[in-house]
Amino acid sequence: MKIKSIIILPALSILVFSMVISCKRDQNVVNVYSGRHYQVDEQLFREFTMQTGIRVNLVKADTDQLINRLELEGKNSPADLFITADAGRMVQAKEKGLLQPMDVDLITRFAPPSLRDPDNFWTGFTKRARVFVYNPERVKPDELSTYEDLTTDNWEGRILVRSSQNHYNQTLMASIVAAHGQKEALNWATKVVENMAQPPRGNDRDQVKAIAAGTGDVAIVNTYYMGLLLHSPNSEERNIGRQMKIFFPNQEDRGTHINISGIAITAHASNRQNAQQLIDFLLSKPAQIAFAEENFEYPVNMNVEWPELLREWGEFKSDTLPLEKLGKYLHDGMIIFNQAGWN
Ligand code: FE
Repeated sequence: MKIKSIIILPALSILVFSMVISCKRDQNVVNVYSGRHYQVDEQLFREFTMQTGIRVNLVKADTDQLINRLELEGKNSPADLFITADAGRMVQAKEKGLLQPMDVDLITRFAPPSLRDPDNFWTGFTKRARVFVYNPERVKPDELSTYEDLTTDNWEGRILVRSSQNHYNQTLMASIVAAHGQKEALNWATKVVENMAQPPRGNDRDQVKAIAAGTGDVAIVNTYYMGLLLHSPNSEERNIGRQMKIFFPNQEDRGTHINISGIAITAHASNRQNAQQLIDFLLSKPAQIAFAEENFEYPVNMNVEWPELLREWGEFKSDTLPLEKLGKYLHDGMIIFNQAGWN
């Protein structure tokens, strides 16, 4: 998720920064740098404060900016926790030495191994599936099968997908490289670009809206955006959500591409215990239910039952390639995006 407002308000961010600094050694705080921008997070942080008395200082910005900031601040960083909406960025943060291992008790009990770092430097706390959304009046479900099939002539001028600058697409691309190697992945990206209904623009929600507007027929999006449309305060968005269906690709082979929102303790956290407590809280049943009910993300906690909408979308096979392995393909993926002309 990209929020540009942070960079245009340097004075404000210095103010927020110094407020956070002043709390660095305060026993009753935890300082969070987050690349997620969802209301449910702030609601859960308030709940955590009510339960524990630990205040959550939240700095929200674009994930890449937060990684740069953690690097620049080094030992003096006030951050205790780092949150991303993408596994690839967590892998990079670990590689840059910005994280430290966390206590594994709840994590290993609840989160499946493919969704966390093998050395416990980060864990997923919500799970996302990158699927196809289609209008059943224009696409028959039996036309849909795999990410790879999007390269066939059947999809000429029909595919909608956002820019390659987007982290969700970068991690998807890394999974294609992991599955097929660089050469095949370039072939895939080139054909998908040829089959696009329009040059990439807008966010995931905009791709679904473009189907409704008749621009294209099938969009590559994360499932929770369908939940957000269906529960939008705007009746037109709710209508669009109701017209569309979800298809989980690659059910006959490796499974649908999965990403996470991840959380990690920063290398120089001063409030380590509080940070660990907040991680455990976010993995606990009530928080996992809130992420699923309010933001329509899949719980990583395997003991949590899915809410109705997620059950309606149905069970599906997930790609279980460990997300930590995708990190090494991110760079190749970016080169491929460039070569394929995927803006
Ligand atoms: Fe998102």
